[in-house]
Amino acid sequence: MSIEPDPATLNVWGGEERIAPGGPTQVPVVHSVSFGYPDLDSWLDVASGRAEGHIYGRNTNPTVDVFEEKIRLLERGEAATSASTGMAIISNTLHSVVAPGQRIVSVKDTYGGTSLLFTEHLPRMGYECVLVDTHDTEAIEAEVAAGCDLLYLETPTNPTLKVLDLERLSAAGHAAGAIVVVDNTFATPINQSPLALGADLVVHSATKFLGGHADALGGVVVGRQDLVDTIYAYREINGATLHPEAAYLLLRGMKTLSLRIERQNENAAAVAEYLSSHPKVVGVNYPGLPSHPNHEVAARQMRGFGGMLSFSLGGDLASVREFLPRLRFAHSAANLGAVETIVGPPATTSHVECSAAEREALGIPEGLIRYSTGIEHIDDLLADLDQALDAC
Ligand SMILES: *Cc1c(COP(=O)(O)O)cnc(C)c1O
Repeated sequence: MSIEPDPATLNVWGGEERIAPGGPTQVPVVHSVSFGYPDLDSWLDVASGRAEGHIYGRNTNPTVDVFEEKIRLLERGEAATSASTGMAIISNTLHSVVAPGQRIVSVKDTYGGTSLLFTEHLPRMGYECVLVDTHDTEAIEAEVAAGCDLLYLETPTNPTLKVLDLERLSAAGHAAGAIVVVDNTFATPINQSPLALGADLVVHSATKFLGGHADALGGVVVGRQDLVDTIYAYREINGATLHPEAAYLLLRGMKTLSLRIERQNENAAAVAEYLSSHPKVVGVNYPGLPSHPNHEVAARQMRGFGGMLSFSLGGDLASVREFLPRLRFAHSAANLGAVETIVGPPATTSHVECSAAEREALGIPEGLIRYSTGIEHIDDLLADLDQALDAC
């Protein structure tokens, strides 16, 4: 009987059989830029794809290969390829699977960098990009039906934690002949499987939850073999290669992915519940709260509601300026998904690339606080929030 291992087991073992000679039990960091061959024929076999192997580090690397294989197994996709950052894999994907003149439909709430690709860079290069209100599923379907070559989704969204119905929107995308891409950074494959819900490609900023320790940048795409091949062919030439040292750190972080996500799901749920009943907090965005407008969709498509939430103290950036330094167990920093709790407003985190006017146009309140729950003990996180709110 062949049993499909649990994700928690794949975190630890997935992809790790491709290890170097000599039997190291841990994946070595292969720094070598080139890979030598004893004779021209075996070199030619690898160069022409007849045999497996590596030629040159911009294209492939053994440490990077293991990272790609581990995430491929967790997302259950046909193929995976990586890049130096999340934005590198997202821009490489958009530049290689669609072309100028084609039409991309997405939502207003994508990650700030992605949003700037849609509002500025891709239109300048001749792509047509249409951004729809994230909460309006019918409007997204109508734009897709009006003509769509690529449907780009992100759920839960950053920083307002809206949830898109992946099964319904993937079906709409496919009915229009579009390629469906989902940014799964916030949910991770532990909480959500976009490919099983119909997406063609899943992209990740591995910098966040996958690595989990805020010490390495990386990006990865998983999904249909033909599309991943196209993205790889472009990425190997434009050179946004994942560094083997970063691949090693991401791999090491991924060993504990399931453990961390279970803890972060629990902590975030408790923090969201606590904040919801606090008199100084005016709004809490967390898909696990029954009051969340998309709670029912989230409960259907997610196995856990994730470690991310956001809330407001009712004021503008001045209230955030006063509140953040009072927290003892939270970095005020532009990152998320790490073992430490991390906080910040959209102006310095998810939407730092946008102007205040652009954030307003995207419906992102200036006084919002994004809270990325770490793996600390929940009692300490709640006590910390309590004393900081009391002092405000
Ligand atoms: C951070 C982030 C990105 C970009 O990733 P980098 O690794 O910083 O380039 C893309 N999407 C989401 C949802 C993110 O949080």
